[in-house]
Amino acid sequence: MLEIKKNIDIVYQRINKAALLAHRPAEDIHLLAVSKTKPASAIKIAFDSGITQFGENYLQEALLKQQELAKLPLTWHFIGPIQSNKTKEIAEHFQWVHSVDRLKIAERLSRQRPSLMKPLQVCIQVNVSEEITKSGCYPDQLMSLAKAINQLPNITLRGLMTIPAPSSDFLNQKAAFAKLRKLKNEINQELALSLDTLSMGMSEDLEAAIAEGATWIRIGTAIFGKRNYK
Ligand SMILES: *Cc1c(COP(=O)(O)O)cnc(C)c1O
Repeated sequence: MLEIKKNIDIVYQRINKAALLAHRPAEDIHLLAVSKTKPASAIKIAFDSGITQFGENYLQEALLKQQELAKLPLTWHFIGPIQSNKTKEIAEHFQWVHSVDRLKIAERLSRQRPSLMKPLQVCIQVNVSEEITKSGCYPDQLMSLAKAINQLPNITLRGLMTIPAPSSDFLNQKAAFAKLRKLKNEINQELALSLDTLSMGMSEDLEAAIAEGATWIRIGTAIFGKRNYK
């Protein structure tokens, strides 16, 4: 646990260096701390080190931690696969959802978003590596999905998210992230939108993601250490 603050400093150093190399303002890159499988006490330490944005993959686990930490001004992002029977609680307990990949889920989230809350901030997850097993919509379905989601009332479509096939090669990493950047630009042009979000880059590939325009990087291991399960 004592490591968490030091780890966060190192992540910010990596962000600053990558931003400098990409000629981008470091403030344009937001850090989402991915706390799945980690206890509320670890989140509290990250909060005390200045982090307020947390990403969770598993609904029941996230709800318990949200209850424990209810007094802290935290913003919660849902980043895991979404089953239909989970949409109501996600719509009620999160400010962002990065992992919407089909219209049915987006429609339910919009319908179930409480009217007194601000619109849910949504990214469409795209399977840029086109792996059969991965979640995320395929690039050729993206345009029509974005068009439909953008029309839903209680959702603000903000941009795209991806988890590329793992690669240790910087140029391969960049190529996958460049695909997402281009897809976002195409949507903005074709649908006359101004999507501003690219949620891409994790502990192993955040530099490549920042080089290709990431605005949210989702960092678990490099902040909280290795996960023991899941
Ligand atoms: C677990 C997870 C992360 C964080 O991955 P690390 O490699 O631990 O940084 C980011 N995004 C999603 C969607 C995840 O499930």
